[in-house]
Amino acid sequence: MSLQRDESGRLHIETPLMAESLMDKALLARTDADTVFRLMPDLSVIKLGGQSIIDRGAKVVLPLVDEIVAARANHPLLVTTGGGTRSRHAYSIALDLGMPTGVLAKLGANISEQNALMLSLLLAPHGGIQIGHDDLVKLPAYLALGAIPVMHAMPPYSLWEEPPEHGRIPPHRTDSGTFLTAEVLGAKRCILVKDERGLYTADPKKDPNARFIPEIEVNELLEADLADLAVERAMLRALAHARSVREVLIVNGREPGNLTRALSGENPGTRIYCQRSADRGKSG
Ligand code: ADP
Ligand code: MG
Repeated sequence: MSLQRDESGRLHIETPLMAESLMDKALLARTDADTVFRLMPDLSVIKLGGQSIIDRGAKVVLPLVDEIVAARANHPLLVTTGGGTRSRHAYSIALDLGMPTGVLAKLGANISEQNALMLSLLLAPHGGIQIGHDDLVKLPAYLALGAIPVMHAMPPYSLWEEPPEHGRIPPHRTDSGTFLTAEVLGAKRCILVKDERGLYTADPKKDPNARFIPEIEVNELLEADLADLAVERAMLRALAHARSVREVLIVNGREPGNLTRALSGENPGTRIYCQRSADRGKSG
């Protein structure tokens, strides 16, 4: 690679991206690849929901801890945590005080971190260890040592979280953080453990006529534009553009065995998959 000075006097290093704004659509398309590097292609990333699981306490959490401990012999695992009711409380106060989205995102991260601490302690006798975002690149080493890493799932947009289309709730919360973690690691599975069978046409807690959806393509789901969802819309958009992870499973963690079945490749709840990324994979 050589240095070049253009007619306007700007200095460039000769690369395929030389002198580009990095906004040109055709150039951006050329940066795609049939395959991207996958650090941990056997990894399963499991999120325990904050409101849906952890806030329900020992009765729901401890059986899941047992399932995680039993599963780790057969599956490399990363466990992540949501924030839940305490995040909602913090968001309410922050909204009332007129705080912008970035402040809410920072508050939410602190609360999901509290849940990661507690879950890592419950798992500690079996190798549970709380890790921070910067430790993700060391994950293969942690797993080689027999650890069960637990990380909070709020993605680190923090004060820089983008303002959402509607309102002020941070659009990238712990479903998105879990999915993006799985994607950057090139994981095999991304499993969201929640408190309903899976996705319905409406919130089953509010609408008795809500119909269960066992399987749906992510772009179809986005187009359906459901009024309420069990997963963040930002996570669906990330799945629609993902390069490695092609599906997300939502399972009911209140029923013993569902997490174990999901880890074994079954769909005991709802499977949201991306057809486009599956096609992209076939060509690679
Ligand atoms: P988590 O604690 O994992 O972040 P949330 O409580 O944020 O989970 O989201 C899961 C909840 O979403 C379910 O308990 C359910 O009541 C609600 N929900 C809203 N819309 C739907 C839907 N279309 N299908 C299923 N659940 C839904
Ligand atoms: Mg949630």
